[in-house]
Parts: sequence; structure tokens; C-alpha cells
Amino acid sequence: MTKVVKFGGSSLANAGQFAKVGKIIRADESRRYVVPSAPGKRNAKDTKVTDMLYQCYALAEAEKDFTVALKKIQERYESIINGLNLNLSLNKEFALIAENFRGKAGEDYAASRGEYLNGIIMANYLGFEFIDAAEVILFDQNGEFNAEKTDAVLSARLRECKCAVIPGFYGAKEDGRVKTFSRGGSDITGSIVAKAVRADIYENWTDVSGFLIADPRIIAKSQVIKVITYRELRELSYMGATVLHEDAVFPVRKAGIPINIRNTNAPEEEGTLIVESTCRTSEYTITGIAGKKGFVAVNIDKDMMNSEVGFGRKVLAAFEENGISFEHLPSGIDTMTVFVHQEEFEGKEQQVLSAIHRLAQPDSIELEGDIALIAVVGRGMRSTRGTAGRIFSALAHANVNVKMIDQGSSELNIIIGVKSCDFETAIRAIYDIFVVTQI
Ligand code: ASP
Repeated sequence: MTKVVKFGGSSLANAGQFAKVGKIIRADESRRYVVPSAPGKRNAKDTKVTDMLYQCYALAEAEKDFTVALKKIQERYESIINGLNLNLSLNKEFALIAENFRGKAGEDYAASRGEYLNGIIMANYLGFEFIDAAEVILFDQNGEFNAEKTDAVLSARLRECKCAVIPGFYGAKEDGRVKTFSRGGSDITGSIVAKAVRADIYENWTDVSGFLIADPRIIAKSQVIKVITYRELRELSYMGATVLHEDAVFPVRKAGIPINIRNTNAPEEEGTLIVESTCRTSEYTITGIAGKKGFVAVNIDKDMMNSEVGFGRKVLAAFEENGISFEHLPSGIDTMTVFVHQEEFEGKEQQVLSAIHRLAQPDSIELEGDIALIAVVGRGMRSTRGTAGRIFSALAHANVNVKMIDQGSSELNIIIGVKSCDFETAIRAIYDIFVVTQI
């Protein structure tokens, strides 16, 4: 059995956290390939090392003195090294970093040092081989990740070593210059490594015990989702539920490798298992609830719309002309509603309205802002009667007016539109009926 384990920044923020991570890795010898993030926040007011590096490099770019800022970063690493009693000095590494900063090696290079240095410490602490991600995570000259080449190089390299540490977040372009993924990208590295070694599982260790059924800021003690499919996850993360970088699912999903979200601070908990498919029915009819505020409903009226061929296309062309994507599109006989992001729409609203008038000649258009969309997601809905009915009755009891309801044809989700001021009440009511009372 082979496991790839990725640890997030808060799991590696100080020596105490490193020790927890060491214990987790040593507890299971199949945990052979380790992908660390840079040290994260030690408390709410702290700064992540990655952010410190960006700030420090900005000084270098502006040709200002960055020595104090770099010293502070070095101190963070030294406190980890000393806390773990390691016989390791990063002086040479920091001298080289300072030299490269002066030579303006680039923002990506600067940010990547967070993971690079943490990887060196981790390898030393565990007695594992250190592999610089710049040698094995490969981008093309345009900065696009080269999945095929990486897979070939990485799997050949890892075949040679039993245990290794590969820092997350970065790789290198063909000319050798460092390139990073977007923020939170160590999750992606972990997924790429898991695919390269054909791991049995990709464990992603963080500071929460998995995906919660609902946002803990709304439901104080939300239960954890035990098993979720990739498709369900996609629906929920699109609606704002985040634990994992969105791009992290693709490499392992293609290879059929499950991801297990685990909590470094509570390793005894099983966390959430993300799988391609499962015959395990979920505990509740729904797997999760997520939502976002800030949508606008553009209601378009026209008599006999139902018989006018091409009406929908003309309306959508007005949005396309203005570079606005739509979220949902419920329609009636003489009405059609386009849901869009308020932020994206606001600045262009009058241009869009006049384009709709010009292209589709509607009778009237009405706008309604401050709408929240809530996605109720669950593979169990397909085989359960009355899910929509239960949602409606829960919302009616909670005095929430439903503006829109849209069930995807996959029967994997139901999207509900409510006024933004009803958002939290609506989520509580839905959680209550499906999870707490299960009526
Ligand atoms: N250290 C990087 C960040 O803060 C990448 C990561 O942690 O995944 O975004």
C-alpha cells in the first residue's frame, strides 16, 4: 500500500505542529511520499510565511532594503529547527535566496521558497529523501502545467526512492525558472504526486475534520460528510464550500484515487473520503448544503415568448456581448429569468438592458438584486421521494419566501433562490429538516 500525504500550512506552522505531523507519518509506513506547504499562521493574527515572502520580495523589486524582512522569515524556520532539535542550518539557503532576490528572480521564485525550505526541514526530520519540486513538477514555457511530462519524470524519479519529501505549490518551466500554482496550490502537487506513484490513497491533512455538511459559521456544530463523490464536491465547492484547491481533484480523479481529508489536530477522526462513485448510501438524503449571496435576477417578459424561436439565444447574446456569464436560467411561458453575479453585472447593467431590448424586443425587464442561491446537494436524492417538498415545507415553516427553485437533471442538486436576508435562516431550516430532525 502506498499513501501520499499532504500537510497544509497550519499543520506545519511551528515545531509543535511538525511533531504531530511526524507522529502521523511514522504511525503508518505506507505514508511514503510527503508534500508539505509553507508554514502557515500560528494564531489568528499571525502572517503566513508565503505572504511574508511576497512582501519581502516586493521590497527587493522596489530596490529597498529587505534584510530585516528576510531575517524574520529565517527566524520562523529556525524556531522550527530548534524546537525539533535538528542539526540543520539554513544559512547557506538564505544567503542564496538573498542573492536571488537582489537579482530579481521573480515573485514565483520568492513565494516557492516557503515550501522549499519547509521541505528541507521535513526531509531532515523524517530521514526521507528531499526532491526539489523544480526537477519534477514541470510547466511549459507559457506557464501551463505539463501533466504528461510531469507524470513521466515524476513517476520514474519516485520509483527510485522508498520515501521522499516533495515540496508543494511550485515547479519549473522549461528554462528552469520557478513557476507556482495559484494560492493553495500544494493541494495540486499532492494530487499530482499521488497520480505519479499510483497511490492507493491521497491523504490531505488540514486543520478541520473534513468537509462539513453546512458552513460552520451558520451551523455551529455541523456534522462532517463521511463520503462524498467528486461530482457532489464540485457542486458544493462551486457554491463556496472550500477545503481543497479546486484543481486538486483532476489528477487523482482521472486515476481513480480517492482523497481523504484528515485533521492533523485530531488524527483519530476518519475525516471525509472523496471518491469517484460509491454504493454507500449517504447517512442523510442530502450530502451537503452550500450557498452564496450576491446574485441578481433579470426577469424578462414578452407575450408569446414560448412560440418565438431563438428568443433565449438573443437574450443570452446580450449577456455574452458584455462578457457576463449566467448562473441559472429558469423560464415560464412568457417570462425568462437570468441569474447573474451582482458584482459582475452592476457596472454594466444598463448596457445589458439596452442590448436585451435591441436584440430580443421584450415587453419589459425587471431587476431584483440581493438574491442568495443555495445548493442542496446529494446523490441520495435520486432515489428518495419528496426532497423538494421537504425543502419547501421547511422553508415555509421558517417564513422564508422561495424566489426560484431549479433541480438539475442529474438529480444531484436542487438550487433555491431566496432573498439574501433570508440566507442563514434558510440554510438552518434545511439542515434541521434533513440532518437534525430527519422528518
Ligand atoms: N503556501 C501557498 C499558499 O499559501 C500554497 C499552499 O499552502 O498550498 O498559498
